[in-house]
Amino acid sequence: MYNYGECEICNGTLEEKHIQQDFWIRGKLIVVEDVPAAVCPRCGEKVVRAEVGERIAELLNDTNRINAAPTISVPLLEYEVELVN
Ligand SMILES: [Zn+2]
Repeated sequence: MYNYGECEICNGTLEEKHIQQDFWIRGKLIVVEDVPAAVCPRCGEKVVRAEVGERIAELLNDTNRINAAPTISVPLLEYEVELVN
């Protein structure tokens, strides 16, 4: 198992997990599932290995793959502030 070491923020012990990461690419939201990463249980910091980051960059550049991928719909909310007089 790859040793991620300790969390740089709080020195917590990082745990290896598979996470979902979302990216905005040219106005499009793309979600990548099952990304191997280390997550800090204390502060939530996420660390991804360089090779994993490179693979994600490849995936995000693969237009054919993106076009053929299943899509999900997500709630879209508008931030509204109620004015109090
Ligand atoms: Zn931490």
